[in-house]
Amino acid sequence: MSDLKRYLAYDNSVRVIVIDATDMVQEIRDIHNLSNLATAALGRVMIVSAMIASTLKDKDNRLTVQIKGDGPLGNIIVCANKDLDVKGYIENPQVELPLNSQGKLDVSKGIGMGTLTVIKDIGLRDPYVGTCELLSGEIGDDFAYYFNVSEQTPSVVSVGVLIGKDGNVEKAGGYIVQPLPDCKDDIIDKLEKINLKIPSMTTLMNEDRTIDDIAKNVTGDSNIETVYEHEAKVKCDCSLERIKDTIVALGKKEAMDILKENGMLELSCKFCNKKYKFNEEQIKEIFKD
Ligand SMILES: [Zn+2]
Repeated sequence: MSDLKRYLAYDNSVRVIVIDATDMVQEIRDIHNLSNLATAALGRVMIVSAMIASTLKDKDNRLTVQIKGDGPLGNIIVCANKDLDVKGYIENPQVELPLNSQGKLDVSKGIGMGTLTVIKDIGLRDPYVGTCELLSGEIGDDFAYYFNVSEQTPSVVSVGVLIGKDGNVEKAGGYIVQPLPDCKDDIIDKLEKINLKIPSMTTLMNEDRTIDDIAKNVTGDSNIETVYEHEAKVKCDCSLERIKDTIVALGKKEAMDILKENGMLELSCKFCNKKYKFNEEQIKEIFKD
C-alpha cells in the first residue's frame, strides 16, 4: 500500500505532503519491466504527480505531467486523478547508464535537457497548462523550479527511489513543503535552514520513520495537523472506447492495411500494456459511425 498524507504546519501557514510510494513504484516497474534507471526516473515523476494530484479539488479533475527530454530514456508521461489512481509511461524503458560520480542512478543524464509540462484539467473549458525548462533532470529540483516559476509557489520538493541489488524497489517516496501566502518570514527562514541539512527522502525512510515523523522532520513542527490521507496506486483507465478513438486517429486505410497484413488489428495500451484486438467486422463498424 502506498500511503499519501497532507498536513498543515505552523498554524495552517505551511502545506506539507508526504508519500511512501514503495509499492506503487514496484508495481510500475513490474508492468513495464523497467530498468533500474527507468524505474527511478518514471518512479520519481509518478511520486510527485501523486502529490500534486492530491491537491486537485474535484473528483473529475485530472493531472497530466509530461517530461520531454533529449536523454536516452526519452519522453515520460504520467496521469493521475483526485483518487490518486496513477498511470505512467516511459519511451525507452530498458535504458541503463553507468552510475554517476556519487554512485547513484544517473537520472539526470537519462532524461537530459528539455521541458516539464503540467496540465490540470479542472473542468473549465481550457485546462491549466504550465511549462518550464528542466533544471537538472533529477525531477525533484525540476518540480521545485516549476512551482516557483509557473505557479509562483516557492516549494521544497524531495523525491527518491532506492533500488536493491535484486532490482526490486526497496524504498520510494517523496515530500513537498510549501509555505502558504500568509506564512511569516521567520518560518520561511527556518524551513530553508532545515532544507539545507535534511537527509534524502530514502535515507529518512531507511531510518524506519513513519510519514508522520517525516512531515515533522522536514518542517521542524511537531504540532502538524493531518488534513488528508489517501492510498496512491497504479491504475489505468483505458477502455475499448478510448482505444477505438486511437483507431479512428489511425485512419481507415492504415487500419485496414494492418488488418490485411496480420488478420487482425491489435493495439495495446501504452500505460498498462492491456491488449485490445479487433477483427475486420469491428474495424468496419468503427468507421461506419
Ligand atoms: Zn491501460
